[in-house]
Amino acid sequence: MEILRSKEALRAYIERNREMGKIIGFAPTMGALHDGHLSLFAAARKENNLVVASIFINPTQFNNPADLHNYPRTMEADIQLLQSTGDVDALYIPAVSDMYPHGTKSKSYDFGGLENQMEGRFRTGHFDGVGTVVEELFLQVRPDNAYFGEKDYQQLRIIEHLSQSKKMGIKIHPVPIMREKNGLAMSSRNERLSSEVRQAAGMIYQTLQRVDEWFRVLSIEEIKKRVEDIFAKEKYFNLEYFVIADEQTLEETDFFYKDRSYRAFIAVYAGEIRLIDNKHLE
Ligand code: AMP
Repeated sequence: MEILRSKEALRAYIERNREMGKIIGFAPTMGALHDGHLSLFAAARKENNLVVASIFINPTQFNNPADLHNYPRTMEADIQLLQSTGDVDALYIPAVSDMYPHGTKSKSYDFGGLENQMEGRFRTGHFDGVGTVVEELFLQVRPDNAYFGEKDYQQLRIIEHLSQSKKMGIKIHPVPIMREKNGLAMSSRNERLSSEVRQAAGMIYQTLQRVDEWFRVLSIEEIKKRVEDIFAKEKYFNLEYFVIADEQTLEETDFFYKDRSYRAFIAVYAGEIRLIDNKHLE
């Protein structure tokens, strides 16, 4: 696996491979890699003959400085893990100046309203930061295909919007959520949970599974009340939001229409650690 530590090294590598006619698959990450990340590279391996990964902790997408400061950094272990899978041909590790040559600031984006819901509401500026770094990575890597996890479903939809509206010609591929044994969605932030809390955190996905059952028989109002009741009695987790949204517009719904599809979204705090999850409603 090639390790590319500057924009210049990446540019030369991409040019060489483009000249050889390689089809390039790309998955960006912030490191502290787990099986959820590896599933993106495995999906890319099947559909491309060159797979590029990146690790960059993007400062502009953190609305909370403590979250940025405490974000896990495990570069040596990440490199070894990637080498052991054999799914990645090149790992791009840019410096902040490679991504932000004119100062660490976000551009501002209109994602057609997708940015105003859920994560956008609770994390001011988050999607401007995500848009800025992903657009820059796309311009530098110039992939044919890019892979994003459904774990961050709103982000995935926003990146699809970005690629289409900027006519970047990059096909965005959704990858299903990988979960720990107890159902907890894998996340780099899980590393910061105590083993007791991490075990208990299976209740977040179990709640979404119950929502999926209730979805068939109860009103949204009743479902929301039940979810709030579950968290009111919860020892470890505080509910930040629970939303059932239209899968296309991501707007919260208070009524189910037969010809639309819906997804439940949740954000909770375990102490100061924020966890998100979502589930398509059958
Ligand atoms: P991150 O390193 O958290 O920025 O995530 C990088 C990419 O990995 C994003 O496209 C995420 O949606 C994806 N990802 C993170 N966790 C998971 C998971 N549990 N299952 C699938 N994809 C994931």
